[in-house]
Amino acid sequence: MSILKVENLTKVYGSKDTKVTALNRINLNIEKGEFISIIGPSGSGKSTLLHMLGGVDKPSEGNIYIENKDISTLNETEMAVFRRKKIGLIYQAYNLIPTLDVEQNIMLPMLLDNVTPKKVDYDRIVELLGLTERRNHLPSQLSGGQKQRVAIGRSLIYSPSIILADEPTGNLDSKNTKATLNLLKIANKEYNQTIVMITHDEKIANSADRVIKIVDGEIVSDEVVK
Ligand code: ADP
Ligand code: ADP
Repeated sequence: MSILKVENLTKVYGSKDTKVTALNRINLNIEKGEFISIIGPSGSGKSTLLHMLGGVDKPSEGNIYIENKDISTLNETEMAVFRRKKIGLIYQAYNLIPTLDVEQNIMLPMLLDNVTPKKVDYDRIVELLGLTERRNHLPSQLSGGQKQRVAIGRSLIYSPSIILADEPTGNLDSKNTKATLNLLKIANKEYNQTIVMITHDEKIANSADRVIKIVDGEIVSDEVVK
């Protein structure tokens, strides 16, 4: 089943003298349960693509379908709800709320919708993340690796069908990089979540099942690695 489909996706920033074509007529189909990495040089359009897929920003041209629904038909409120339930976003900058503890930060997407996560789901996630001892700490009391794991926990809690991760291992040492990739693999293999991960590191890219390379806003290769 196609979970994410992109047709002729174009994104142009600025106008006239400042015009930059970040994405140029991208076509892409992602099946449910795929683990994909997107690789390419800095400035090639990777983050732009992820923002479009997550409905954070709008395309200049072309269409995006999530589970066969054209997301341009959703208004802002509908998109926000859709995004919280269907899409887990992981950014390098964590986006944790400083006044909320680990537990509240992880549960945030559900709290916003007045939904209480099942305790067993929450306990399992916190354990997988290795944060059981840290559940009542604030972000300021955590290391970089721990903050990244909280951000991942938040993207997992609603069991979204799609996880979009922008350089999730970008700031991490090798130990935390391994742990993060492992969590994404568990989400993919055990929970059948579809994962799209940006990285500029070829070794990390190859831990996915399919590697898509973008150069100058265009897909230049799309390969199944295993
Ligand atoms: P990558 O993630 O591969 O490094 P980006 O998607 O961030 O690439 O950027 C693609 C191109 O679009 C770059 O030339 C960048 O300068 C430009 N760009 C990205 N975001 C904006 C923005 N908000 N306004 C103007 N130009 C932007
Ligand atoms: P990591 O490998 O996860 O990045 P660090 O080497 O930075 O971890 O930190 C080692 C230990 O020190 C961790 O268990 C972490 O909980 C603790 N620690 C790091 N920074 C802080 C902080 N600002 N406040 C309290 N504890 C911290």
